[in-house]
Amino acid sequence: MKMYRQIMRGPLLIFSILMCHVLGAQQPNTSERPKLVVGIVVDQMRQEYLYRFYDKFGQHGFKRLINEGFMVKNGHYNYAPTVTGPGHASVYTGTTPAVHGIIGNEYYDKAKGKFVNCVEDSLYKPVGNDAANGQLAPSRLLSSTITDELKLFTQKRAKVVGVSMKDRGAILPAGHMADAAYWFDSKSGTFISSSFYMNKLPDWVIKFNSQNLADIYLSQEWQTLLPIQQYSESGPDDSPYERKFAGKDKSTFPYKLSELRAKNGNFGLLGSTPFANDYLTQMAFAALAGEQMGKDAITDFLCISYSATDAVGHAKGPNSVEVQDTYLRLDRNIEELLKKLDMEVGKGMYTLFLSADHAVADVPQYLTDSKIPSGYFSDSHLQVKLEEYLSGYYPGRSFIENISNQQIFLNQQAFSKDPRSSGMDMYLVTELIGKYLMAMDGIANYYTEATLRQGNYGEDGQKGKVIRGYNAKRSGDIVFILDPGWLESGSIQGTTHGSGYTYDTHVPMLFFGFGIKKGTSVQPHSITDIAPTISTLLKIKFPSGSTGQPISEILD
Ligand code: ZN
Ligand code: ZN
Ligand code: ZN
Repeated sequence: MKMYRQIMRGPLLIFSILMCHVLGAQQPNTSERPKLVVGIVVDQMRQEYLYRFYDKFGQHGFKRLINEGFMVKNGHYNYAPTVTGPGHASVYTGTTPAVHGIIGNEYYDKAKGKFVNCVEDSLYKPVGNDAANGQLAPSRLLSSTITDELKLFTQKRAKVVGVSMKDRGAILPAGHMADAAYWFDSKSGTFISSSFYMNKLPDWVIKFNSQNLADIYLSQEWQTLLPIQQYSESGPDDSPYERKFAGKDKSTFPYKLSELRAKNGNFGLLGSTPFANDYLTQMAFAALAGEQMGKDAITDFLCISYSATDAVGHAKGPNSVEVQDTYLRLDRNIEELLKKLDMEVGKGMYTLFLSADHAVADVPQYLTDSKIPSGYFSDSHLQVKLEEYLSGYYPGRSFIENISNQQIFLNQQAFSKDPRSSGMDMYLVTELIGKYLMAMDGIANYYTEATLRQGNYGEDGQKGKVIRGYNAKRSGDIVFILDPGWLESGSIQGTTHGSGYTYDTHVPMLFFGFGIKKGTSVQPHSITDIAPTISTLLKIKFPSGSTGQPISEILD
């Protein structure tokens, strides 16, 4: 018996050691996750810029992301309106305004009867500067974000920080559980936060702010990075399609910022120059060091949203030397950032993705002058004309409460209190507005609230994009879409974005580093696929409202 035990003990021991070994290898261990995820959203970046400016990029910025990482060549926004707040929310929640509820940057809040900022919340106070607008929080974002999910998975041990010049660009990506979001205050030229996150700025932010870098950047002259004759990928610098800075009669280099700042919003001018991206890069470095991100076994998440590209793009348009120069300089920022991450977190130890919150339309006047159909559509003109037209049918009543983000909000008070006649009036007014819209130049189509609320979320074409951009409780009563090339804007200089057309939807989707294959794909992907892809890589839950799918081509 004793002998038997002895004999069995040996193999059993070996067997249990083997089992432990096998099980141990199957258990998730820290080396199976990146130490840090860096999410970069470039405001107003077209996929086309990667190709057009490619030859002028350095070897270690965008080119490194493309050549050592994975490029989704056919990545699109799958809804309209394509604007900043919804864009950032959609990248980080993996869904669209129909679900996450961020329907515009500013939008008409039906319940409050006023225009609201998508990240405003009067419950909170600014932190870092009392005078600033800092009553902000992600309260209107209805879905969890990929950053929230990382917090949930790690029992709040992961560090999550968002930084951007724009409040919404910092707040929406960082999500509801973030350690912090920091954005630029154009009154003080420093980075501030909100009492939603903290009661006082951490020492590293106070120290960073005390350097007064905004002043140093604004004492510079904005010259082209390369000799200006080399910008053959762009149109002439002196162009009738570019908006000018106040106090400068031509839209041409060089821009003497020290002379321009007084007439262009003082510190606010910084946001319209590529130096804002330099500033934000320094802030990201300060956050990495200050919060010790990517230093331990628990994955951290840093969200960086570059927004100078949007301000320059709006003012100068996609063919300007100014836009090209801003991207060549951003390429240097990306190079610096990668170098810093290699050094501080380690090569191959972090995952990075880069996308945009929307792309941008060509300047309509430039298209018109080049024989391509386009035009300008005025919401305020539409409102006046519609009231005039409806008063013919319903004298003395005002039906239009607000027109914004291609939506018409009807004044519910204008309808009779009797539910039977009120319903009939509502139906008639909506149909009358529809008939009027279809007779207008620049209107392609319209959809009523009833059509959209019952619409199929997966529907193709422009209608599908409107359905996915339509939040049943928050959006307007009628949504209209403009013809291709048309803008909701009046100025013949500069441009904007917001449509469901490919010039506004086609954005970069680059993935790089830990867990990412090398390669490219022309398969169509929606930007709502980014968050589920990162969830799969991190082995965590998808964001709560997620409607996207992981991009299988890119994951190891
Ligand atoms: Zn934007
Ligand atoms: Zn110019
Ligand atoms: Zn914009």
